[in-house]
Amino acid sequence: MSGPCLGLRRAGVLLSLGAAALLLLLLPRGRAPPRPRPPRPAGPSARRAAGPGPAGSRGSSQLARRGRLGTAGSAARESLELKDIFIAVKTTRKYHRSRLDLLLQTWISQARGQTFIFTDWEDQELRLKAGDHMINTNCSAVHTRQALCCKMSVEYDKFLESGQKWFCHVDDDNYVNPRTLLHLLSAFSHSQDVYVGRPSLDHPIEAADHVQSDGSKTTVKFWFATGGAGFCISRGLALKMSPWASLGNFISTAERVRLPDDCTIGYIIEGLLEVKLLHSPLFHSHLENLQRLQGESVLQQVTLSYGDPENKHNVVSVGGVFGLQQDPTRFKSVHCLLYPDTIWCPAKKMS
Ligand code: UDP
Ligand code: MN
Repeated sequence: MSGPCLGLRRAGVLLSLGAAALLLLLLPRGRAPPRPRPPRPAGPSARRAAGPGPAGSRGSSQLARRGRLGTAGSAARESLELKDIFIAVKTTRKYHRSRLDLLLQTWISQARGQTFIFTDWEDQELRLKAGDHMINTNCSAVHTRQALCCKMSVEYDKFLESGQKWFCHVDDDNYVNPRTLLHLLSAFSHSQDVYVGRPSLDHPIEAADHVQSDGSKTTVKFWFATGGAGFCISRGLALKMSPWASLGNFISTAERVRLPDDCTIGYIIEGLLEVKLLHSPLFHSHLENLQRLQGESVLQQVTLSYGDPENKHNVVSVGGVFGLQQDPTRFKSVHCLLYPDTIWCPAKKMS
């Protein structure tokens, strides 16, 4: 699926009016509901968006210059605690053993209270390990746009329900460093409009989202953070997304523009709400060359990932703890460097 948006912006506007009443109840006092915008003037052409595929739109990973964000360091530093962050991990039946167990053993063990696992199968073994932090979305266990958007929709609704300050989404092949995540998000206020992550493309995508009365299409250009590297959204912004994202609306928005889940998030935030993605190099997917991350810097990232060992093994470069055989993803080694007191980590060498 290559991301052309065939839906109508007008439909989105009507939808937004319908949902605005609900949103008014959710918004903090004094905050205006999202402003429905008039259709844009006709674009030059109905050019197709540059190629995001169903699994996301995760092509080249060169960051754009605009809106870059390195280490957290902006004005509104707030005292944020890990419990204020809602971390959603997307997984599926076939990866419960091969991927999720590793995450439970490593980073999730450091962020149990705030991590929720969104899957598509009632797995008793996982239920025992995760309790009510495993959420069976009842979405179908296939890798289609609809199934993935179904999961994102449940993630979003659960976040709104949770009352937490930040929504972060990751895939089940991501390592999350809770300390650096907390440090990054502390740079902002959760009531500001914040959407932070890493684009997988070096240019915005362009999607046709409105058909004019003469049949021509207008296009909207927007950046999106690739789901495979993880991204975060502040509560203030998440509330504004509600008309297009809550209670099943996310699925209809994605259907209307025919975009994968992560692109649809970008479409709602940049395309409709006109809030810019903050481009952060601290999030990583396996579509970039992870070997570039070496030594100490590996421990300073917010997310990491790993490539399929059956293809070219694309992992971060970290030495001195476990060998590649024992730790092919390098997540165990990273974890032991970050949390050396973990019971299964090799004892520290006496100097
Ligand atoms: N996934 C899913 N349903 C599927 C296949 C994959 O929910 O049928 C999830 C998977 O658990 C992961 C994300 O989608 O969190 C991306 O999958 P994967 O890493 O296999 O593919 P990628 O898009 O990274 O190549
Ligand atoms: Mn992946």
